[in-house]
Order: sequence, then structure tokens, then C-alpha cells
Amino acid sequence: MPAMYQLEWRNGRIDEIYGHRGYYYVFSDSEVLSFLPTPAWCNICGKITLCEKLESPEAIKSELDQLEEPESEIAKMLRRSSTPDFSDRWKRRREMDLLLVTQRTEPASCLTCGGRQVVHFIDDVWMPHPGTGEEVRFSCSGMCSTTFAMKFYDLEGRLLEIDTDDKKRLLAKGYL
Ligand SMILES: [Zn+2]
Repeated sequence: MPAMYQLEWRNGRIDEIYGHRGYYYVFSDSEVLSFLPTPAWCNICGKITLCEKLESPEAIKSELDQLEEPESEIAKMLRRSSTPDFSDRWKRRREMDLLLVTQRTEPASCLTCGGRQVVHFIDDVWMPHPGTGEEVRFSCSGMCSTTFAMKFYDLEGRLLEIDTDDKKRLLAKGYL
């Protein structure tokens, strides 16, 4: 489920920003990985748009190491899920996340214009707004449900032109 975010200003103003779902990386004809775009500042659009957010390989590797430890907090948390095989699915998903960021060469893209001049906010920290310099604080404020975007990208974050039948076919094979 996508997240809902808020951008807080020093004068008390709060802007709500909604995440979106239905975005996928296509690894191959049978390997599709969903991702949730994050609101960030795009220098080309000149506004906050939904953008890719690329994780550091080290952070994902560290999580994968913890998943191997049955007593780690994350392993325990995943075991509490009511979804069967959730731990295994999550591990496969994180392995694909790692594959994506280790072979990736291009920086994160804006999903509106496809540009690469994206500046992410730092969660829960007062920082200068990348567009105006005013101090703002960005945070996740909850979850929301939205319609599916049904957009597919290659591993460099370039939009793939796929017709609706092919999209359905890719998703029907299952995805992480
Ligand atoms: Zn843009």
C-alpha cells in the first residue's frame, strides 16, 4: 500500500502528498518487481513529483544478512505475517532490489518527466526546500489507497512502452 506524506513549513502550513502504486521494474519476461515511488523535488518539472528512490546496496545487504538470523527483529517481524511464505517472498524481493541497485548506472528519475535532476527530502529532518530554500520537514504520515498506475520501467528507470495486454500478461505471471 502506498504511503501518504506531509511537508511541514515553519509557518505551520502542512501540504499532504500522496504516494501511488502500480509501478514495476521489468527484469525479464517473467521477472517483475513492483516499487513505490516517493515524492521528491524535480528540478526540471520545478515541483514535487513522484520519483524513484534508489536504496544503497549496503543497506539492502545488511537487511539480507539480518534475514538470515532467525532471532533478528526483522526475521521475527516477517514471521508474524499472516501471509504464507511472506518471509521467503520478502527475501526474494530484497534480493531483486539489490540486483537492481548494483547494476544500475543512472541516478533516480522523475516519473513525470523522466529527468534525472531529482532531490529527495530527508525524512523527519528540517532542511532547506530544494526549490525555494525555505525550511521544510518531510515525513511519512500514514498509508493511503489509490488506483494502480500500471507503469513499467527498465532497470535504469526508463519508461517502457507496453500495451495493456502485455502489461496484464506480465503481471499475470506473478511479481514481487
Ligand atoms: Zn520531472
